Amino acid sequence: MRNKIIFGAVLLAAVFAVAIIFYRRDKKVGDMETSKIKVVTTLFPLYDIARNIGGEKAEVALLLPPGMEAHSFEPRPSDIIRINEADVFVYTGKFMEPWAEDIINGAVNKNLVTVDVSRGVKMIAGVFHDSDELVGSLDSHIWLDFDNARKMAENIKEVFIAKDTENTLFYERAAADYEGRLSEFDLKYFEAFSNCENKEIIYGGHYAFGYMANRYGLKYSAAQGISPDSEPTASDLISLIDQIKKNNVKYIFYEELSSPKIAEMIAGETNTKMLLLNAAHNLTKDQFEKNVSFFDILENNLENLKVGLGCW
Ligand SMILES: [Zn+2]
Repeated sequence: MRNKIIFGAVLLAAVFAVAIIFYRRDKKVGDMETSKIKVVTTLFPLYDIARNIGGEKAEVALLLPPGMEAHSFEPRPSDIIRINEADVFVYTGKFMEPWAEDIINGAVNKNLVTVDVSRGVKMIAGVFHDSDELVGSLDSHIWLDFDNARKMAENIKEVFIAKDTENTLFYERAAADYEGRLSEFDLKYFEAFSNCENKEIIYGGHYAFGYMANRYGLKYSAAQGISPDSEPTASDLISLIDQIKKNNVKYIFYEELSSPKIAEMIAGETNTKMLLLNAAHNLTKDQFEKNVSFFDILENNLENLKVGLGCW
């Protein structure tokens, strides 16, 4: 509660700061305009979709600093200014970015167009653990179902076209390309999981792969609830360990950008091996510099899943 009050105060201060900056820049804005549309995105999958559809016509930025765990992110005043200076702001939805609505409502830039990419996506309930603060909200990890990712791409494309109608054909083609690649991965995943020794993913991290498991008929259990902040209880861990032993599970998976200590503990107790399963919320600094794509992550995940589930 206290955090919310502080956050609210920071937000209000930032809105005033933005208002002053815009007031002062009023006459300069026209001079500064480039022909590219300026896009700010919150999470890495949104960034990857937007930069691929926008191509040379858009200047796309990722709000999350590289390496930062996404659920604990709260925008700084400078981030609020960046959003206000953009033409398009792309976010995942109110369950992933509960702070977005306040920024949108307080936006001083009246030309700012916002895209909630979850529009039209059928959301599923998350699995909550006792320590979760977010009980009652829906699972925000929509991008890990590739059919949803296609809808997200459509939502982004539509806004780019609305902002820059002249280049409609360009955006249409780029979106069709990107969605085509998503469809290829979708098929690859369906094929890969049709012949596996087991279909149970045990995750030593937070509940991020519910959508993926649903789509491909896999079973999924996570040590934590839908946020990495949630602490697994002793009974959560004991039942997970029992499940591993009972079902003779040989590999467990760990998440990106958070300490793998829970996964390590489970692996130590059960004599299982660990494999990375990356939910792609964000990139590390190194990955960002190497220009790693969403598809690179999906490819690595599939390799590890095939090993971990014994697929042939
Ligand atoms: Zn997450």
